Amino acid sequence: MNKWTRREVLATFLGLPVALAACRSPEAQSFPAGEIVGPSDGIGHKIRDGLSVVPSAENWERVGVVIVGGGIAGFSAAWTFLRAGFEDFVLIELEKTPGGTAQSGTSPLVSYPWGAHYLPAPMSENEKLVALLDEMGILEGLDAEGEPQVAEQFLCRDPEERVFYRGRWYEGLYLRAGASADDLAQLEKFNQEVNRWVAWRDARGRRAFAIPAAKSSDDAEVTALDRISMAEWLDERGLDSARLRWFVDYGCRDDYGLRLEQTSAWAGLFYFASRVRRAGTESQPLITWPEGNGRLVNYLYSKAKSRTRLGLGAVEIIPASDERGSGVEVVALDHAEDRAFGFRAKRVIFAAPQFLTKYLIRSYKEQSPAHLSEFQYGTWMVANLFLKERPVNLGFPLAWDNVLYESPSLGYVVATHQRGLDRGPTVWTYYYPFCDQNPNEARSRLLGMSWRDCADVALTDLTRAHKEIRSLTERLDVMRWGHAMIRPRPGFIWGAARRAALKPHRAIHFANTDLSGIPLFEEAFYHGTRAAEEVLRAGIRNEG
Ligand SMILES: Cc1cc2nc3c(=O)[nH]c(=O)nc-3n(C[C@H](O)[C@H](O)[C@H](O)COP(=O)(O)OP(=O)(O)OC[C@H]3O[C@@H](n4cnc5c(N)ncnc54)[C@H](O)[C@@H]3O)c2cc1C
Repeated sequence: MNKWTRREVLATFLGLPVALAACRSPEAQSFPAGEIVGPSDGIGHKIRDGLSVVPSAENWERVGVVIVGGGIAGFSAAWTFLRAGFEDFVLIELEKTPGGTAQSGTSPLVSYPWGAHYLPAPMSENEKLVALLDEMGILEGLDAEGEPQVAEQFLCRDPEERVFYRGRWYEGLYLRAGASADDLAQLEKFNQEVNRWVAWRDARGRRAFAIPAAKSSDDAEVTALDRISMAEWLDERGLDSARLRWFVDYGCRDDYGLRLEQTSAWAGLFYFASRVRRAGTESQPLITWPEGNGRLVNYLYSKAKSRTRLGLGAVEIIPASDERGSGVEVVALDHAEDRAFGFRAKRVIFAAPQFLTKYLIRSYKEQSPAHLSEFQYGTWMVANLFLKERPVNLGFPLAWDNVLYESPSLGYVVATHQRGLDRGPTVWTYYYPFCDQNPNEARSRLLGMSWRDCADVALTDLTRAHKEIRSLTERLDVMRWGHAMIRPRPGFIWGAARRAALKPHRAIHFANTDLSGIPLFEEAFYHGTRAAEEVLRAGIRNEG
C-alpha cells in the first residue's frame, strides 16, 4: 500500500471525493508527530513461519498450569485460580504490555484505550462478572429487584453519543433530524421486533440472547437466525429505511467490524436484545473509564502480576500423547533478550486466538483440525490523537462517542469525557474497521500502510467535522490490529466448528472470546473463568 499515491490511499479508505478534496487543500498537507505502536507482528510472523528455539537445561521449570496469552481471557483464568487458592501457574504474554485488544496507553493528561472501551452493566445472572466488578468497587449493592447497581462515577457521563451529518452534530446515534414518518414507523417496528426477543423465553426459561452468550437459548427458532444475514433479516420485514439500516449497520460495524450483509442475524439481534433486561426498557447503562477496558486489564493484571511474564511468547506447545503419559511442554521465547524458556506443565490454558493453534500446538501443526479454517478475524486501525485544544463545535456538544454518518470509520471516543474535563487538551481514540469480504486482503493492506498513510486517513476523515483538526493535533499514534476480532458471519455462532474448538485437546484447554463467535469483554471473561474451572475440576492442586 505504501507504494500507492496519497490520493489512492485516501480514496480507498474514504472515497474519491474526500480524497480529491484533501489532495487539493493546502491545510491538509501537514502532519503531527507520531508512530505505529505494537503489536509485535515481527515475532508473530516468525512463529507462523516455523521459528524453532531450544531452551537450555537450566531454563526449564515445572509448573501446574501455563496460561498462554495475557488478554482478558488469560487474566480472567488467573483471577479464577487465585480466588480458588490455586497459585501453581504462570501466565505468559507475548507483548510487553498486558491486555491484548483491551490494552490502554497513558499520557500526562489522561489514559486512553487502544481497543475495547466499555461494557454494559451486567445483569444479576452474570454472577462471576458481578463478583469481579464488586471486588473492584464498581458496584454499590443491589437495587429493589436484586440487580447490581453501578456507582455513578463509572457510568458513562452524558452526553453519551452524537452523530455528525451534513455539517452539524445531532444527539444520539439514530439520525432523527429529517426522518420521515415512514423512517420513524420503521424504527418503531424494529424496536418492537427487538422487544419481542427481549421478552422471549424458551421452555427452560432461557433468554433468546443472554450475556454470556453460552446462557442463550439453543431453541431452533433462535438458532435459525444464525443462518441468515442481518441484511436478509431486515429485508424479510420490509425494513428498508436508509436511516434504520445505517443505524443497524453501525451496530454491526461497531461491535463486529462487519457490514449488515456480512453479519449473522443472530449476532445482529444479540447486539440490540442482550443488553435490555425487560421489553420496553432502556439498554443496560454503559460502564467506562478514560482508558476504557484497560481499567479491567490493569486490575486483573495487578492480581496476577507475580505469576505473569510479559514479553514471553509461546513458540511451541507439545501435549503428551496418551502413550507418552500426560502433561504439556511449552517452549517460549523472550524476544527482546532472545532467550528461550521451557515449562513442563500438567495443563495449559490456551487463551490466545484459535487461529494461532495451528502454528503453536505441535499436534495441530502435524494435522490442523478442520474447524480452524472457520475462524475468521477482522482487521482494525485505531489511532490516538493528542489535541492541544478542542475544535469549534457545530451543533450538539462533544459526547463520549462521536460518530460520522457519512464515513466508513466509527468516529472517535473522548478519553477526557469520563474525567469531566470538558475544555482544553484531550485525547481522542479513532476507530476504523476494515469490512472487506476477504480478511486476508484487508490484513495485508493494513500491514502495508505506513504511519503517514494511517494518520492521513484519520485526520482527513475527521476533517469532515473538524476543519482545524490537523492544526490542533500535536501527536497521533497508530495501532494496527491485524487479527482484531472474530467475525460472527452467518452460520458461525451455531455451527459445528465453534463447538469443536471448545473441547480440550489432550491437556490443553481453550479460552478466548473467539470461542463465543463474538468479540466482547464478557465473552473473553466467560471463557477464561470457564477454562480455569475445567482445570480445577480435573483435580489440579498446588504442589507441596
Ligand atoms: C479495536 C477494538 C475495539 C474493541 N472494543 C470493545 C469494546 O468496547 N467492548 C468490548 O467488550 N470488547 C471490545 N473489543 C473486543 C475485546 O477487546 C475482546 O473481546 C477481548 O478483550 C478479547 O480478549 P481475549 O483475551 O479473548 O483476546 P485477546 O485480546 O486477543 O488476547 C490474546 C492475547 O494473547 C497474546 N498472545 C498471542 N500469541 C501469543 C503467544 N504466542 N504467546 C503468548 N501470548 C500470546 C496476545 O498478545 C494477546 O495479549 C474490541 C476489540 C478491538 C480490536
